[in-house]
Amino acid sequence: MAETLTGIHHVTAIASDPQRNVDFYVGVLGLRLVKQTVNFDDPGTYHFYYGDELGRPGTILTFFPWPGARRGRQGAGQIGATAFSVPAGSLGFWTAHLSAAGVAVSGPDVRFDEDVIAFADPDGLRLEIVGDEAAGMIPGWDGGPLPAEHAIRGVHSVSLWEADAALTGAILRHTLGFAPVAEAGNRTRYHTAGSGVGTRVDVLHVPDAGPAAGGAGTVHHVAWRAADDAQQRAWRERVAAHGLRVTDVLDRQYFRSIYFREPGGVLFEIATDPPGFTLDETPDALGTSLKLPPWYEPQRATIERVLPPIRVPAGKGAHG
Ligand code: ZN
Repeated sequence: MAETLTGIHHVTAIASDPQRNVDFYVGVLGLRLVKQTVNFDDPGTYHFYYGDELGRPGTILTFFPWPGARRGRQGAGQIGATAFSVPAGSLGFWTAHLSAAGVAVSGPDVRFDEDVIAFADPDGLRLEIVGDEAAGMIPGWDGGPLPAEHAIRGVHSVSLWEADAALTGAILRHTLGFAPVAEAGNRTRYHTAGSGVGTRVDVLHVPDAGPAAGGAGTVHHVAWRAADDAQQRAWRERVAAHGLRVTDVLDRQYFRSIYFREPGGVLFEIATDPPGFTLDETPDALGTSLKLPPWYEPQRATIERVLPPIRVPAGKGAHG
């Protein structure tokens, strides 16, 4: 088996109002809503998947929007920020674009030779945009509401907030095969064997941050990529052999998943690349209607009555 995970598969966070969530991630950030489905553990709640035009692994940010959800508290044992990659020359565009949309932006700051701006979504979720040389090699989605040249290319990295950064660092290195590549202040950067976007994770040592509480505006978990089911099984054995409690393989329709908590408390998932979001919709139709897994289809009428209707902002192209 591969000794190193190839990178981030997706990041899942909690939101409150579903329409406000769609308006921000499609209308302001220019991501594509690639799937409208339900939370498989709570089918009265939406699960939205945003990504590039196909929702390729490494580009996916997902939300459970619970209308009226209370805000969470950012603290240790949580993902403190999710960063997106854009071409290095696009940060000026993003600063002006976010400001024009009424989003408060801080930075740019320099972090490990890259420029970073920071802001929050309408629920207070901490986001960053990084000018990433690798992003310039990837074409942007040309059916979205923003100019393709400046479009978000994928997830750059996540920052884990940890009371004991050494414990988490040991799991990243010895169990998951990440390599430490840089350190500055309380931040240590780890890299996977993969290349391109989604190949970095930062561990922030924050002994005084206090405990985290889940809720709107916080990340629920990060998922790492497994190329196929065999690789996922091998990772499952390896994680268990390192003394971590790992779930059975769960069918998430668009991928299969296992979950475990790293010692600092952050929930990790390992998700398979296949089958992906074109399983039940054509590429042109991705995200345009509510999709349910076969086991919830018999309850479709009930589920559709419970979910508030949403309207997806239009892209500028024919395939938006
Ligand atoms: Zn997940």
